[in-house]
Amino acid sequence: MSLKHVLTTCIYCGCGCGLYLTENDGVLTGAYPSVKHPVSKGSLCVKGWNSHEFVNHMDRLTHPLIREKGSFRKATWEEAIALIAKRFKGFMKESGSDSLAFLSSAKTTNEENFLMMKLARAVFKTNNIDHCARLCHASTVAGLAATFGSGAMTNSINEFEEADCFFITGSDTTAQHPLIGSRIINSVLNRSAKLIIADPRKIELSKYATVNLRQKNGTDVAWINGMMHVIIKEGLEDKEYIKERTEGYEQLQELVKKYTPEYVEALTTIPKEDLIKAARIYATTKKAMIVYAMGITQHTTGVDNVKSLANLAMLTGHVGFPSAGVNPLRGQNNVQGACDLGALSNVYSGYQSVTDENSRLKFEKAWNVNGLPGNVGLTVTEIISALGEGKVRGLYIMGENPMISDPDQNHVRKCLEKAEFLVVQDIFMTDTAVFADVILPGASFAEKDGTFTNTERRCERVRKAVNPPGEAKADWEILCEVARAGGYTGMSYKHPSEIMEEIRTLTPIYGGMSYERLDPYGLQWPCPTLEHPGTPYLHKDKFSKGKGTFMPRPFLEPKEPTDEEFNFILSTGRIYWHWHTRTLTERTSTLEREAPAPYVEIHPEDAAELGIRNKEKVRVISRRGQIEIQALITEKVVRKSCFIPFHYREAAANVLTINAVDPIAKIPEYKVCAVKVEKI
Ligand code: SF4
Repeated sequence: MSLKHVLTTCIYCGCGCGLYLTENDGVLTGAYPSVKHPVSKGSLCVKGWNSHEFVNHMDRLTHPLIREKGSFRKATWEEAIALIAKRFKGFMKESGSDSLAFLSSAKTTNEENFLMMKLARAVFKTNNIDHCARLCHASTVAGLAATFGSGAMTNSINEFEEADCFFITGSDTTAQHPLIGSRIINSVLNRSAKLIIADPRKIELSKYATVNLRQKNGTDVAWINGMMHVIIKEGLEDKEYIKERTEGYEQLQELVKKYTPEYVEALTTIPKEDLIKAARIYATTKKAMIVYAMGITQHTTGVDNVKSLANLAMLTGHVGFPSAGVNPLRGQNNVQGACDLGALSNVYSGYQSVTDENSRLKFEKAWNVNGLPGNVGLTVTEIISALGEGKVRGLYIMGENPMISDPDQNHVRKCLEKAEFLVVQDIFMTDTAVFADVILPGASFAEKDGTFTNTERRCERVRKAVNPPGEAKADWEILCEVARAGGYTGMSYKHPSEIMEEIRTLTPIYGGMSYERLDPYGLQWPCPTLEHPGTPYLHKDKFSKGKGTFMPRPFLEPKEPTDEEFNFILSTGRIYWHWHTRTLTERTSTLEREAPAPYVEIHPEDAAELGIRNKEKVRVISRRGQIEIQALITEKVVRKSCFIPFHYREAAANVLTINAVDPIAKIPEYKVCAVKVEKI
């Protein structure tokens, strides 16, 4: 018996923990932490410890499948790829390139995301490419790019160990980013760091908080403006920093004048004393980190929320230093990388705009093609709607599951049913794959080489430990075969390291990231040259865009307020035991055992009023659909609000959610919609 230990990167969250996979006789047998890894330092959460299990699952897709007469039959790779190329080229000829669309994946590698955008843009000449970042942090990319010049986490995970104040909002950190959550708890318990939480729900970290602000859902701009009002009124702003490093301060001063603590209390329900206390602590602590996640971004005002946090950080001079900054925690293992590598409708890799002629010419030259499209393409929710309307005729989905992840599930189902030609490339038969015309079996993270980029911009290696099952192939190999069948000869690589060489030459922030240099634990971008050491924190001395820009925003109500009939605010999110659409975690026995069923959290007084007992099945109804689900009676939620984890197809929260989107980022408002709760 020879046990092999392969160092790689966790497949689940954006912390990017380093772990070893163990292999014996071609089978994965376990996972354990890398002690020397600079981020995880010998720790993993329960998902990391069990990340090998789904790889061996009997449900894995092992052969290409083609739909015929309503059911799937096994196909050869040659016929499946030829069919895709024939149909996609046919649509292009009949209806133009924008009748095609591509959904890339935050679960696949950087190299694969780069190739997916190359396939869409160079081969099929469309910018209709997007991925699930649209559904989680599109607001961050837009909001921080506008204010700071870079739409990424400003600081590093290890800097959590030195911070003196954490301001956490819209992030259930111990559940979603357990490794970062434990760093925060350690800093509070061992170094007396201050902790401010602004979250409508009581979260695990709430019990360690110095101040808990429990705002009404959807009122974030109001209370952030209120904090800035207090800071300016009490003279706690950093005048020198504002003068030297920022622009637009006068407009901010003017806008926040009316957000007095009394006015904010009326809008948000946050007691004015708590707001003032939080403002004073944050403004007067030098090493203060703002940390946020989807509770901030998933609103029709998502970009406004992010800009407001950026305003707050600049007002107090908290950006451009270690253990400070504005730190969006990216959800999926490689959602940062999928954005960086251009799996977005408006940019090539490195956020180079598709509307900029110089960028287009640069990519045309490198890829040896003419006529790259200069229009901004459709986003995730627009692609799904266009599929239903017949405007998109061919859709290629790699490693995404919009049936569970997208808002308003009944609408998504209707659109997928109407799809003229749908290709799904995945490792399991997902809820979306059942609608496909062609299914292509991909390889899991343990079965291929590549890189992921974690939430702190660290690009790190993913290493092959075992072969994929049956005839399954690495996603990068499949994409190359489709490109060649489409008549393009510029996508042939022997190994992902060759793709990274192409990425380096076209993507300035990744310019110094060769595979040799990424060994063993990666580099943080920007890393422009082969000599550059990488960048632990951004905006040192000056912002990426020169001066940071204050972008004051007024408070706007959510799109669907409650009324007499739909009198509860519904919010959705994730739990510790499961991941995203549960495709991997429902096939991991330890995780599924702990959280096998969906539930809705309801406040005890609301439950008493409705005559609902704990664990009783209830009906939750919105204007778009209804589900039956077990009630969990808890004070985690405030009165007249409820929370449902979105992982479960058995009672899918996204049957209820609304597909109203932020006008700039096009992110849906998952965190606020109006529902009613009924006893069955
Ligand atoms: Fe994986 Fe995130 Fe858990 Fe680390 S904290 S082991 S990256 S899921």
